Amino acid sequence: MKLSYYPYTISLKDNFAISTGSRTATPAVMVEVEHNGFIGYGEASLPPYLEENQSSVIHFLERVKLDLSNDLSDIDLFLNDLDRLAVGNNAAKASVDIALHDLWGKLNNLPLHKLFEIQKKKNLFTSFTIGISSPDELERKIKSALQYKYLKIKLGAKNDQEIISSVRNYTNEPLLIDVNQGWIDKYFALDMINWLSEKNVLLIEQPLPKNNLKDAGWLMERSPLPIIADEAVQEISDLEKIKECYSGVNVKLMKTGGIRNAFRMIKLAHELNLKVMIGCMTETSCAISAASHLAPLADWIDLDGAELISNDLFLGMKIKDGEILIPDKSGLGINRKILR
Ligand code: MG
Repeated sequence: MKLSYYPYTISLKDNFAISTGSRTATPAVMVEVEHNGFIGYGEASLPPYLEENQSSVIHFLERVKLDLSNDLSDIDLFLNDLDRLAVGNNAAKASVDIALHDLWGKLNNLPLHKLFEIQKKKNLFTSFTIGISSPDELERKIKSALQYKYLKIKLGAKNDQEIISSVRNYTNEPLLIDVNQGWIDKYFALDMINWLSEKNVLLIEQPLPKNNLKDAGWLMERSPLPIIADEAVQEISDLEKIKECYSGVNVKLMKTGGIRNAFRMIKLAHELNLKVMIGCMTETSCAISAASHLAPLADWIDLDGAELISNDLFLGMKIKDGEILIPDKSGLGINRKILR
């Protein structure tokens, strides 16, 4: 079993701005595990606000020894060891986890959702994300996203109400709002949420700074809309901490350390009566396809990451009229598009 990896820069189609900054690219590390003529593909996507970067991922991968059985029947034990190899490093762990699950599916000739005994469903609609934009950009982006049944609008700018009023000039579709910790004051946040609740908004993601759980609990008690934790939940163990202060959690493979832990996080969230969004970073169709197999377990889906990039390395999960089509091919169900 051979592990190889290389740094890759994911280019974004548009400048992507959120409350904490803007960027036109996302560093990544692509992973391949080769075994018996099959290749399992994995990916670590590394937006700059996370603690990991290409060097830290490569440093982690240098320490990984793939001592697994030939049929990967001991994948769970191996992933337990991988978790213990270092604290954090969750995107690095995710890259190995995703590649091994792809390989495992290929060796068993089963798509990932079948390996996890997840039933496919119809009408799995993803939101499409629109970063903080000027009025002109906003119009162009919304008009290019008409196939989606709902949009995720990034707020936490200085003119949030203006942004929403502009959005409403172009579409009446339901909106998800992601503030990325951009509202500091709980009273301001509650006023904004009350105002948004009359604008066909379905939920509010991470309105307050991630460490301020006290105010998050205060806000959730009074909010007419569900409040979803994103930055406030990085690990499975964080769910216990936020269960009284948020209505749900945005589960992302890069935060949980891969598919297995994302699956576990979703199960635990439901046990704790938390709603679940399955989300992503800007990622290629490798990690996005991996997450798509878990989409039937989620209450909301935000898997548009590969739609936002201009140099996708893979063909995999597709979106048709806003609906995600989970691949049926073995493993993640992806093909490498560009030969290196
Ligand atoms: Mg978010």
